[in-house]
This record gives sequence, C-alpha cells and structure tokens, in this order.
Amino acid sequence: MSIRLQYPNPVSQSYPIEAYYHTIMASIAAAARRVGREPAEIRLVGASKTVDLARIREAVAAGLAILGENYLQEARQKIAVLDAPVSWHFIGHLQSNKANAAVRLFDLIHSVDRLSLAQALNRAAANINKVQDVLLEVNLAGEASKSGISSTELPDLIRVCHGLSHLRVRGLMAMPPWFADPEQARPYFKKLRILRDQVQSQGQPGLELVELSMGMSGDYEVAIEEGATLVRIGTALFGSRPH
Ligand SMILES: *Cc1c(COP(=O)(O)O)cnc(C)c1O
Repeated sequence: MSIRLQYPNPVSQSYPIEAYYHTIMASIAAAARRVGREPAEIRLVGASKTVDLARIREAVAAGLAILGENYLQEARQKIAVLDAPVSWHFIGHLQSNKANAAVRLFDLIHSVDRLSLAQALNRAAANINKVQDVLLEVNLAGEASKSGISSTELPDLIRVCHGLSHLRVRGLMAMPPWFADPEQARPYFKKLRILRDQVQSQGQPGLELVELSMGMSGDYEVAIEEGATLVRIGTALFGSRPH
C-alpha cells in the first residue's frame, strides 16, 4: 500500500515545503523497507525547473541535498546565487554545444543519450581537468516524443563512453510512458534494472553501473521497489508548475 500525496495547488505564501519534503522522505524509506533495501541507498533529486529561489531555499533548509535542473540558462542563474552546499544535477535534454557550461555546473548529468553528446562532454571535461559523472538515458518504450537511446543500442554506447577518459558512466536513467496508475510503470523500471544488470555482467573492467535514476512524483515508490537509487521529484515537493 502506497501513500498518495495530495499535490499542493496553487502555490501559496504558506506552502509547506518542509512538510512535503519530510512526507516524501518517509515514503522513500517505507518503499525501500518494503523490499528490504536501506533507505540511505536512495537519494532524492528535487526537480527544480521553474521553481524560484525562495522555494528552493526552503527545501534545502529542510534537508534537500540535490537539485536537478532541465535548462542550462536557468540553472546557471540559480547556481550563481544559491549559496548552499547542494549538488546540482542536469536532468533535461542537453545540446552538445552547451557541453562546456554543463561540465562546469553539474556533478552528474542524467541525460546522455547519444555518442556525439558523450564526446562533446568528454572534450569539455578534459579542458577543465574534470572527470564528468554521467548516466545514459534509455528510451524504454521507443517513444518518438522522448529522448534516450534504445535498449538495443545501449551496450555499444556504454562501451564507447566507458572508453572516454574524462567521462565516468555511473548508471542509467529513464522516463517511462506516463500512466495514471503507477503500477503500470513497474515493468519499465524493472526493465531498466535488468538492462543495467546485463551490461554490468559483461564485466568491462572499471565499469560500475551503480545508479538507476527512475521515478518521479507519481511513481517513485514503485521505482524504488524496482531498484531506483535516484528519484527525480518536482511536483510532489515544490507544487505544480506553471503551464
Ligand atoms: C520535471 C521532471 C521531473 C519531475 O517531474 P514531476 O512529475 O513533477 O515530479 C523528473 N524528471 C525529469 C527529467 C523532469 O524533467
């Protein structure tokens, strides 16, 4: 039995981000324990696109340690002024010509979905003597409207990326099709975990696919039951976004 959150809407002055943060953390822990996992294995990424700094600060004050941004320009502005010990992740679609900025700003890039982008990030990271942590994004259902590499092309992309000296592939990310019932997303989460296990078992020296970035506001508990290590949650934490 999972607890369904009432999404706050609209956002008001008295919007209780701290309470939502603690509710989510409790749900994360409960989902982990249901399948015999340690809650500490799962990290919450606050998906903070379009969320203003005041609300971000409240979430950070409550304990949020990772912020996930989708747009480079928006992220750059927030990172410049949010003076807090948080880790910034990039979770949106990334253009190769933004690679230089991306490697300067982000500890983890969740959305590497093609070789040209991996190569651009590798060059950009080399320029600043950084080893950039990345996840490879997989398009599990072959949806034309979504980015991500197909599961059949994934092993080759991982092998090539693992050979790039300034990238470190840490795992996989996916966004399953949207379902009103989160149970319907479960097969996709399971598929991502199995894909990870398959590639990992091919035993490329030094390759450690430890992260599974999967699960959002509506389905993160199911994702955790299927092995998620990073859940990307926006609406359930910050309230609904403007359309
Ligand atoms: C916005 C976003 C999320 C969070 O979505 P919610 O449903 O609001 O929790 C997660 N992942 C990505 C890639 C996003 O762009």
